[in-house]
Amino acid sequence: MSEKNTSIHEFDFKLICEYFSGLKRQGPGSPEVTIKALSFIDNLTSESHIVDIGCGTGGQTEVIAYHAPGHIMGIDLFPVFIELFNSNADKLHLQDRINGIVGSMDSLPFQYEKLDLIWSEGAIYNVGFEHGLNEWRMFLKTGGYVAVSEASWFTEERPVEIDEYWKDAYPEIDTIPNKVAQMQKAGYILIAAFVLPENCWTEHFYNPQVSAQKNFLKKYTGNKTAEEFIAHERREAELYYQYKEFYGYVFYIGKKI
Ligand code: SAH
Repeated sequence: MSEKNTSIHEFDFKLICEYFSGLKRQGPGSPEVTIKALSFIDNLTSESHIVDIGCGTGGQTEVIAYHAPGHIMGIDLFPVFIELFNSNADKLHLQDRINGIVGSMDSLPFQYEKLDLIWSEGAIYNVGFEHGLNEWRMFLKTGGYVAVSEASWFTEERPVEIDEYWKDAYPEIDTIPNKVAQMQKAGYILIAAFVLPENCWTEHFYNPQVSAQKNFLKKYTGNKTAEEFIAHERREAELYYQYKEFYGYVFYIGKKI
């Protein structure tokens, strides 16, 4: 990559981080869904070690802290998100319960067999569902849990337009039975799988972006990269409204055997 390209890439990266930093969540989800997923996990105590991988600015981490005992470490690749994560934790007086670190989900800095729960909402796709489940398993104690949300097809067949869009964006998107089989093959017992309700995409994810997009475009008037990025986000939302009966996010909760 030439130096010129590198700097363009860094600019994109900064812009995208800035855009998502202003939002409560960086992916579809809701406090109700985080609480529901937590309700399937029964091994936690105040001594438990929980990690939230791809935690973003920590919207869901705070919910876990309010509804489960134990210490939670958030980990995310982007330092800007982790700064916000830790300052939000301070504001909520949760700094003794949760702390965020910068790191990558493909080389986690944990000891083997030490974790009671690995949490990851809307983020495992960055390394791939199957790969992530296989690799992360070694960090869990036997009997420990993994709880991840992941884009999934609801039907065996779907319109070509949405099929092609997702095959380009995330070729590993698959049907729920296939995802469940991958979880089992990776060495977990399936404890629960449930579809996230539509309001996780609309009320909690796309709606807050409408005004964020307007402000962003005002700030970056004439900036082609910013305009293209917002156009991309808007297209993604439009496709969701058009094809939501064919796909969505599913929470998969497994127990290490
Ligand atoms: N869990 C949050 C954020 C989901 S968006 C929520 O549900 O709101 C996906 C997150 O994964 C982003 O915060 C992104 O910075 C992070 N991410 C992307 N690649 C990563 C990697 N290799 N390691 C750790 N985090 C990563």
